[in-house]
Amino acid sequence: MAEKPNTASPIVGIDLGTTNSLVAVFEPGGPRVLGGDAGEILPSCVRYREDGPPIVGSEARERAVEFPRETVTSVKRLMGRSLADCGDEVPYLGCRIIEGPHHTARVELPWGRVVSPQEVSAEILRELKRRASEALGTEVSRAVVTVPAYFDDAQRQATRDAGRLAGLEVVRIVNEPTAAALAYGLGAGKETEPRTVAVYDLGGGTFDISILRITPPIEEGQTSFFQVLATAGDTRLGGDDIDRALVRMFTDEIAELLGLERGTLESFDAPTRRALIGFAEAVKMKLSEDESASVRIELGEDRVYERTVRRDELESLMEPWVDRTIEACRRAVGDAKASPGGSSLEIDRVILVGGSTRVPMVRRKVEEFFGLEPYCALDPDRVVALGAAVQAGIMSGGDLGMLLLDVIPLSLGIETQGGAVAKLITANSTVPARATEMFSTSVDGQTSIKIHVVQGEREMVEHCRSLGEFHLSGLPPMPAGIPQLEVEFLVDASGVLSVRAHERRSGKRASLQVVPNHGLTREEVESIEAESFAHAREDMTRHRIVDLIVNSKLDLKWIGERLAAYGDKLESGNRAELESLIASLSAMVADAERDWSSVDADAFYALKQELDSASVRLQEIGIAESLRRDAE
Ligand code: AMP
Repeated sequence: MAEKPNTASPIVGIDLGTTNSLVAVFEPGGPRVLGGDAGEILPSCVRYREDGPPIVGSEARERAVEFPRETVTSVKRLMGRSLADCGDEVPYLGCRIIEGPHHTARVELPWGRVVSPQEVSAEILRELKRRASEALGTEVSRAVVTVPAYFDDAQRQATRDAGRLAGLEVVRIVNEPTAAALAYGLGAGKETEPRTVAVYDLGGGTFDISILRITPPIEEGQTSFFQVLATAGDTRLGGDDIDRALVRMFTDEIAELLGLERGTLESFDAPTRRALIGFAEAVKMKLSEDESASVRIELGEDRVYERTVRRDELESLMEPWVDRTIEACRRAVGDAKASPGGSSLEIDRVILVGGSTRVPMVRRKVEEFFGLEPYCALDPDRVVALGAAVQAGIMSGGDLGMLLLDVIPLSLGIETQGGAVAKLITANSTVPARATEMFSTSVDGQTSIKIHVVQGEREMVEHCRSLGEFHLSGLPPMPAGIPQLEVEFLVDASGVLSVRAHERRSGKRASLQVVPNHGLTREEVESIEAESFAHAREDMTRHRIVDLIVNSKLDLKWIGERLAAYGDKLESGNRAELESLIASLSAMVADAERDWSSVDADAFYALKQELDSASVRLQEIGIAESLRRDAE
């Protein structure tokens, strides 16, 4: 039998954060964060350049003020979301955000290039992959990646896609609070009763509280089951607010010293503001250790602003923010109690995550609220990455002194347009497992949708094993792309797969139950895997071309309709360019449909991108027109 080339390649754990990202690996001594030249933590910041590859990390962050339109920060806030979804985030991001095809949010660079949030995240992942490969001395190509517990399927899928663009197979997406619990070894012990854990995560810009239930295995040989009972939080609350409040205190006092009115120093130039924020953050951090910290700022003409800040002063400044986090904890505990079987719920453990949980007042208030001393032995900046590495270790089959896992031997998915496979549950996921994904149609007026369930590692249906199919019929005719088909896969603890399909607009439902690994021996599973490795490159190209055909058709339809409606409002040069690109892309689609191997996937992708970029003005006109219509 063919050797499985991938088994030796390590799986790494990645915390892909809003502000910072980290990669870690599981080793015999435990999980370890892997470093780069500039330290372990990689700022999640990407600066694009017109004439070279992007710069990722500290250098991009340090010069963000100099290159505001080229630098993308906090891209996690845009992942898998429409422009309308993230409207209130846009002013905080610095770079220009526009609406891309299908209402998605895109970043437009000053020279007209448009990049998707997935591409930006892929740059961060590529750098983490490079660091990990260098540190481990072998090419890393598989990762466990964490996401916030409240991420929906589109956001999770976008995270997977970012991995794929970076050349990383995302073997598992793990909720950040679950990763934190795994880092502390919760779920690995000899417990027999379910435990409830609160994960309090206060970072630089966001606050999340999650209540998890960890259920020990019913039978030996299975793993614990992590369930998120409730989440709450605030996407605009964190340590940065404290830094800004301290800056306000300093500037008011400096104004007084200079005989100016309060508030007159609010609008500093960017470098001064950054310097002041730097002072404020240093004071805040020192006060986590000491009772007082001093600041000294030379104001020129022999004037000096000098001040000692006491911890109690900082605490009275911070109190309203910390109280807001406690209110969110109260809501989350209330919601968890309201969940099925949660009425008698008691929190057994509290875990702290995020740099701002180093503040003593935060720890005190959390302890007071939950009536428990929080777990904080691990570095709160690293705990999520360490937990991702623990999951990666489990999936690599490492001996973690933990329970053996019951896993799904082969990936499970459904057939999509053009005979490609969308995998909902990947091989080696532990049972029970659940995944939901949204699909739609690509033909106008479809009244029935076939759901063909397949198992296997290859990219095309013809190379996978068919598990069964069913139809969701009786749908009212709708234009392509409008039906919202939610497909849910659920594999129970004994490996039985239930597939449910629900079209949200019409409320139609259908379902199927199959036992996915029935009749397959371990040898058969291995030979299917070996086949998939042997054909991986060809399969990926074919899948990519099939995806390009489907997406190009949707773009051509969408752009064609808008061109017909608003073409007369475009500059004539832009209109001619669009018409010519539409003709070329239509021809490319026709060629690819005739014979996928006759077209070059990169050229196909480039042409589609060119059409997307050339249609930016048309999209803007379309948005303006629909806003005008809405207003009328
Ligand atoms: P994170 O988003 O988890 O990386 O957390 C970053 C936030 O933690 C920033 O606002 C930092 O200023 C804050 N932080 C890091 N270390 C400390 C510390 N020792 N005391 C107070 N805040 C800290």
